[in-house]
Amino acid sequence: MKFKNIFTHSSLLQASTIIKTLKDNGFKAYFVGGCLRDLYLGVTPKDIDVTTDAKPTEIKKLFKRAYIIGKRFQLVHVYVKNHLLEVATFRQLGEENIENENFNHNIFGTVEEDAFRRDFTLNALYYDPTTDEFLDFCKGVDDLDSKIIKSIGDPEIRFQEDPLRIIRAIRLSAKLNFSISEDDTNAILKFNHLLTQIPSARIFEEFIKFSKTTNLFLILKMLEDFNIKNILCKNINSTDDEIIKIFTENTNNRIKDNKPLNPAFMFAVLLWQEKIISSSKSLTSFSSSLGSLNIPKKITAVMHVIWANQKRFSFTKGKRPFKLLRQPLFRASLDFYELRVKSGLLDNNNLKWWLTFVEENTDNK
Ligand code: ATP
Ligand code: MG
Repeated sequence: MKFKNIFTHSSLLQASTIIKTLKDNGFKAYFVGGCLRDLYLGVTPKDIDVTTDAKPTEIKKLFKRAYIIGKRFQLVHVYVKNHLLEVATFRQLGEENIENENFNHNIFGTVEEDAFRRDFTLNALYYDPTTDEFLDFCKGVDDLDSKIIKSIGDPEIRFQEDPLRIIRAIRLSAKLNFSISEDDTNAILKFNHLLTQIPSARIFEEFIKFSKTTNLFLILKMLEDFNIKNILCKNINSTDDEIIKIFTENTNNRIKDNKPLNPAFMFAVLLWQEKIISSSKSLTSFSSSLGSLNIPKKITAVMHVIWANQKRFSFTKGKRPFKLLRQPLFRASLDFYELRVKSGLLDNNNLKWWLTFVEENTDNK
């Protein structure tokens, strides 16, 4: 079968032992979701999800390093060597409603019911490596072949149930270069305002994923085109701004080169205003104007240092440059400064001085 070759990818091999253990103990178990979608498209998956009819407590008993997590949806984090896998129990179909605090997300169902609870057809694929069984209840493979993102069921209902799916559709569309179906597009435009009802922590998690996705530029552009950027946070810079264009190109290159990416740096760029530099008040008060995008303190702390350091690059005499050089966030701050220069916000001379200074004073051995 066509899938066998794809799904024997090395990233699934170790994870297969989890499926085998579950099956040896009489449970059903499958790889599911994004990992199969990505492998089908020839992309190495970011994370691997497993789903089973074993309950979280039953899953936990079978593995040495297994931890039940999550309130909304209970999941088990299982570690095989250094790999983390998310193992979830099949969910039951029901009147899911994000606003309904009493909705019990942890009533479990069959694999077929689980498929119809998922967001998009291409995310509802199942594969059992021990029997080579492949399940595609929602015609996900057809949509993968047609390069289209389509909600399972009526998009209007699905986006109202969980408006975060709107952002997921956009992120996936940009990541895979897929189009969003016409019905989904219309439903997004109709229900985009519901995003204000989503807990800010869930929106923030999506932004963290943006920071590691190639095509960040396209994500931002789509957020603008779907009128979502202003709903989430009015202060995010426009894709017309040079700083966004250059930063997103740099990000794509860093991903290609396997270089680390710091989400705080992305937020520092997205929310940068040249006026921040002239007022220490705007440095700290900006958090109050973030709308639905509530950035945790540990990230804003890094952003503030990167921003506050910008002023310090004007001083090239005496001990001050040496002090700045010893700062833990010096490199990120200099990268940010360089970004501002390349975006035409500053002239080049000072940057040249700093690059030479760094070269002369850094031990590269
Ligand atoms: P990626 O890992 O590239 O971000 P993904 O699709 O794997 O994409 P995850 O957040 O890892 O995203 O979710 C795993 C699977 O869980 C998805 O493929 C989808 O089937 C399901 N899922 C995630 N979020 C939702 C949601 N809000 N509503 C319904 N199903 C969801
Ligand atoms: Mg995933």
